[in-house]
Amino acid sequence: MVWGAAGRLLLAAGLGAAFEALAGWLLRRAAKASPPAVREVLFFPSRVTCVKELLEEAAAAARGVSSSPRGPCACPLPHGESALGRLLGRLLSSPRCSGQAVLLLHRRGVRVRVVTDTDYMALAGSQIGLLRRAGIQVRHDQESGYMHHKFAIIDKKILITGSLNWTTQAIQCNRENLLIVEDKDCVNIFLEEFEKIWDDYNPAKYTFFPKEEKQLLKDKAITGAKLEVNK
Ligand SMILES: [Zn+2]
Repeated sequence: MVWGAAGRLLLAAGLGAAFEALAGWLLRRAAKASPPAVREVLFFPSRVTCVKELLEEAAAAARGVSSSPRGPCACPLPHGESALGRLLGRLLSSPRCSGQAVLLLHRRGVRVRVVTDTDYMALAGSQIGLLRRAGIQVRHDQESGYMHHKFAIIDKKILITGSLNWTTQAIQCNRENLLIVEDKDCVNIFLEEFEKIWDDYNPAKYTFFPKEEKQLLKDKAITGAKLEVNK
């Protein structure tokens, strides 16, 4: 049958074209160097821009839908590029970390672990309580020195490190730098350090009030030294 032959022919032609397209795509993909690894530097302070769209997109992605395009946002904040927006975008782009972003990732099923300085556990404006109430694992130091690291690792793949404290104050007011790199060797070194700290700060190992005790001892030593000087 002419119609049948034409139908098969069409089909074959269709498949042929599809294969050709697929082969072409694979060849182009193989020929292309692997996509450039992430290497980005951000400087702060950043102007505060609206991040509503970023958060909405991420929330929609979490639900497995694409966010419906809306009209221009009516909020009073400026809209457009900013270091803050780029940082947030980087955190939220994780397919599988500031408070809203971390919460969003947690709700999306991403395992989030946070290590912070003891002082930040209960500081006014600290988001730590919020994170803990949401069920995110948080550990803190119990040493007299500060937990002064400022790094994040995403998906064991991307390292974000620099001078930036992950606080609104630092983002908006301080001069800070942040380096974002996709580099296996760097990531592994930082990952090892994170796991070591995570284990060091295991609550099972806590002794309570070491800071006060240390301070008391220090005060005593100073008083002792003063007394000796005064003798
Ligand atoms: Zn807005």
